[in-house]
Amino acid sequence: MLGLMQNWPLLCHRIIDHAATFHGERKVITRSIEGPIHTTNYADIRARALKVAQRLEKDGIKLGDRVATLAWNTWRHLEAWYGILGIGAVYHTVNPRLFPEQIAWIINHAGDRVMITDLTFVPLLEKIADKLSTIERYIVLTDAAHMPKTTLKNAVAYEDWIGEVDGDFAWKTFDENTAAGMCYTSGTTGHPKGVVYSHRSNVLHAFMAAMPDCKGLSSRDVVLPVVPLFHANGWSLAFSTPMVGATMVMPGAKLDGPSIYELLNTYKVSFTAAVPTVWLMLLHDLEKTGGKLPHLKRVVIGGSACPRAMTKTFQDKYDVEVVHAWGMTEMSPLGSLCTMKPEYAALTGEARLDVEMKQGHPPFGVEMKITDDSGKPLPWDGKTFGRLKVRGPAVARSYYKVEGDPVFEKDGWFDTGDVATMDRYGYMQITDRAKDVIKSGGEWISSIDLENLAVGHPKVAEAAVIGVSHPKWDERPLLVIVLKKGESTTKEDILGFMQGKIAKWWMPDDVVFVDEIPHTATGKIQKLTLRQQFKDYRLPTEQAAE
Ligand code: AMP
Repeated sequence: MLGLMQNWPLLCHRIIDHAATFHGERKVITRSIEGPIHTTNYADIRARALKVAQRLEKDGIKLGDRVATLAWNTWRHLEAWYGILGIGAVYHTVNPRLFPEQIAWIINHAGDRVMITDLTFVPLLEKIADKLSTIERYIVLTDAAHMPKTTLKNAVAYEDWIGEVDGDFAWKTFDENTAAGMCYTSGTTGHPKGVVYSHRSNVLHAFMAAMPDCKGLSSRDVVLPVVPLFHANGWSLAFSTPMVGATMVMPGAKLDGPSIYELLNTYKVSFTAAVPTVWLMLLHDLEKTGGKLPHLKRVVIGGSACPRAMTKTFQDKYDVEVVHAWGMTEMSPLGSLCTMKPEYAALTGEARLDVEMKQGHPPFGVEMKITDDSGKPLPWDGKTFGRLKVRGPAVARSYYKVEGDPVFEKDGWFDTGDVATMDRYGYMQITDRAKDVIKSGGEWISSIDLENLAVGHPKVAEAAVIGVSHPKWDERPLLVIVLKKGESTTKEDILGFMQGKIAKWWMPDDVVFVDEIPHTATGKIQKLTLRQQFKDYRLPTEQAAE
């Protein structure tokens, strides 16, 4: 027997329809790439997205064709997303911070037919355009007055391009399992891998993301998506924000401390989200200027581990709730968020911070387990580490044009490559990437725990820990440190600070000071490069062991 309910496919453009109908006047405010602040609303965003859809169709773009965007968070980018979605084409967000060769590789692998880009990236595209054989035309997200002279094929200013149609157009309908978007993960080895979201997975994930124990969004919120749309499906903000009808503030190209601060306070932003690096810049700036955050209520921090000092400063000094989150491009991307269940809600001070350092508990729609290398489930005792595996309707089941990648296990679980503990209340804590744990004497040492501890030292700006080979222990930890500007200190001072805060056998065998630690295009520490840099490094303890 089948249910007798309506068949209403979960299509992403229904989100902008809902926003335009029931929250039509709600503002979408952008710091434009050209400079001035631009204000529009959901009703206008939808009307112009329909023009994008109509215009793409006129250019011959059909169901399943890929349309690349290489762009900052702006109202025009949002219109382009929904316009692409509305004819069943596939938005492919490209990360401009990747190396140019990687950008070209990704665009060719995806087979993108159109490139929609910002003024900022025209010179970059001009340099690699001869390699982009599948791109038929370039749309620059600007108007005629700001359109630069360019050698890009069939280049046109976005405003002129959509100006050629009248917007009298209806969205297409199709199966909810149709591809909606693509995002490549910047693997630390090999080529990037394409994740393909469906309309259904994006809509279900947006419901999940908006829930109170996730981002907890409502129409009364003012949301500032600092995280770019080109990072991990924009953390669902382009879907979950219009879905609830919240005001949206788009930061454009300026993500520095003073620019973000100005938006937070001028537009009374109540909710924002980004990686720790962005918040380090903001907090650093606030420390200098004595600025306050009277309107901001909640900040979601993820993408890499949120340092304890950051959570403490946001909460104690600025009265802003920090929600630590974990996710992956392959998960649309949310996997878990650290909001307080009743079991932990009454905690205060350091005990509360201990919980807030965890990456949290999964919402409905994410199944989670930890296993040993043979796949046997491990206990949820908050101590035992294991391989973290997930399953759900917004989790990838394959990479684009890659057959049989072993991370997608036969029983439907996805091996995240992260190593984590689970506690008795179902809170997960990442202890490492599987390939970054330091294997010492048959035991595992968490590089992330050591890094978090080291950055608590007042003179340390950034820390990375890698395993260096050791004749007796197999591997031992080497601590690599970047000091804050103008500071100096010694190895003994750093180790003295860490002493007593971790097991003795976890103490790094050596400390080296460097000017810079290498990062990936999404801001994560590039451990592979660091390991190569230090591959011939001889630990002082190694000499002692001989
Ligand atoms: P990406 O797909 O680029 O977002 O990278 C996903 C990876 O980032 C995860 O597998 C984790 O290794 C890491 N990651 C994301 N969020 C966190 C977090 N809150 N703490 C530690 N690592 C994180």
